[in-house]
Amino acid sequence: MTFSSQEFKQQFPLFSQEENRGLVYLDNAATTQKPACVIDAIRDFYLHSNANTHRSSHRLARRATEMVEQVRAASARFLGAQSPREVVFTRGATEGLNLLANSLCRGLVAGDEIVLSTAEHHANLVPWQMLAVQYGLVLRFVPDANGVPQIERITEVLSPRTRVVSITGGSNALGFRTDLATLRATIAATSSAATSSQRDLRWIVDGSQLAAHDVVDVAAIGCDFFVCSAHKFYGPTGIGLVYGREELLRDLPPWQGGGEMITSVDLLASDYADLPHRFEAGTSSLAAIAGLGACLEFLGKQDRQGMAQYEHTLLAYLHDRLSQIPELELLSGPRNNLGIASFVHPRCAAIDIAQWLDGRDIAVRVGHHCAQPLLHAAGHTATVRASLVAYNSREDIDRLVAGVEELVLQLDDTTVPPVAADSGKDSAEAYSWQPDDLSKLDLDALRTQQNWQDRYRTLMRWAKVISRKDHIRTTEHLVQGCESSAWLVHRREAGVHRFAIDSDSRIVKGLGALMLSQIDGVSDDAVAPSQLHQIFDELGLSQQLSESRGNGFRALVERAFELMRA
Ligand code: PLP
Repeated sequence: MTFSSQEFKQQFPLFSQEENRGLVYLDNAATTQKPACVIDAIRDFYLHSNANTHRSSHRLARRATEMVEQVRAASARFLGAQSPREVVFTRGATEGLNLLANSLCRGLVAGDEIVLSTAEHHANLVPWQMLAVQYGLVLRFVPDANGVPQIERITEVLSPRTRVVSITGGSNALGFRTDLATLRATIAATSSAATSSQRDLRWIVDGSQLAAHDVVDVAAIGCDFFVCSAHKFYGPTGIGLVYGREELLRDLPPWQGGGEMITSVDLLASDYADLPHRFEAGTSSLAAIAGLGACLEFLGKQDRQGMAQYEHTLLAYLHDRLSQIPELELLSGPRNNLGIASFVHPRCAAIDIAQWLDGRDIAVRVGHHCAQPLLHAAGHTATVRASLVAYNSREDIDRLVAGVEELVLQLDDTTVPPVAADSGKDSAEAYSWQPDDLSKLDLDALRTQQNWQDRYRTLMRWAKVISRKDHIRTTEHLVQGCESSAWLVHRREAGVHRFAIDSDSRIVKGLGALMLSQIDGVSDDAVAPSQLHQIFDELGLSQQLSESRGNGFRALVERAFELMRA
């Protein structure tokens, strides 16, 4: 078999829709696009087989039940599990991790330890934090270098009290793979040298990012449990897989209770169903399971080795091209990487880069990628993440790089400072600010501009009138609800309201300037929040700015009016 990316891409109808012809989709680590067969399978399920499974005796119910169990068997083959009884359907990786955390912790006692890493997605961190509080457990973390776990040093945090090791198969923020072979060897050595209590150590791999790029083989990995979400590997949303070794699943208490997971129910107690149904309370995502079935068949027909080789070459090209952009800081490297390039620019906030790229129909992700501890350890609050799969091409990368280069060329020498933490200046100093001079901002000029690129440029220019104000960058003045940091201060002066704003993002500064051009210097009740939202809508900014950015503007407006009313 040989792999052709072009032919592969043709199977994804989203790309041939009129409005998506020019789209460069590099947000695959968040979710991949779906091939036609997956979309068709979901439609077919509703057209031909829609019925609830297991509980009913009619023809449609039998058909749906059969489909679910066939997809379970296919999922077992996909994961390299020994039996379909080892595969539990969940709504996604997050639910899978919550299931494992809740079921495994049920048998633990205060002082027992859970080992995680700094690189975990919040889905493999927050559930453990919640259970640690509930059961008095201790969370320990694999030693790291700038956030990257050093798996070879995991023995430093393993102890006779370690009960669970739950580690990502690869970082969704920076792309690096976890050295699972070393992890396996270390855990095996610890278990074989251990007392009987330590043999209860359970090992989970969060395979959410692995499954799109690697042929998964849980037996080769050697883990006790493995979790992933279908939507990350061309399948539908709403369906995830949990693999668990049969003898371990058998001993595990169920997490959620309800229909489907029982054999009999009394008023005070119930008997649970056999594996794996005891972990699947309620009606499953049946149409999504049908879509997953089609997705697994689709993947089975691909040259997976060829795909992996292709992605590898493309990722090297992506890193090579990005590394040639002056000043751009790459936080990822092409080796041992799950298709991700993560970067920042010292003179442009990550969100501004992503917003600019969106205007060129290039979809990337920006932010902390649900991996805040990792980004903080790496010294950042947000990065731009471009993540690729096998339908991406060199042209996609050329467009991305050209977009970033074009933006960088427009930056002047004003360095956008890194996000400052609370500067700790006292309140007196914090109130010594001066409003910026907004008199030259011309709203009508913005109104007459027809396209987003021009408006973006104008807002970036407006951002320049907002001076940097270190002394207002305090927690007290931080506006909650903005994706990037924004600080807003207010005072009454000669009967009118005066404001000043600062942000680490130029586009937020631009939007802040837009807002202040309407409310700075006005008297009580001269403007209403709805007038500002109307301007925002009129300018088409609501459609163009991401939802969170739109919400950020709303948060700014709300805060400003709150300050005026105070
Ligand atoms: N773990 C990792 C490494 C991820 O990348 C993600 C999603 O981005 C998740 C867990 C959560 O997956 P889901 O949102 O599909 O539940």
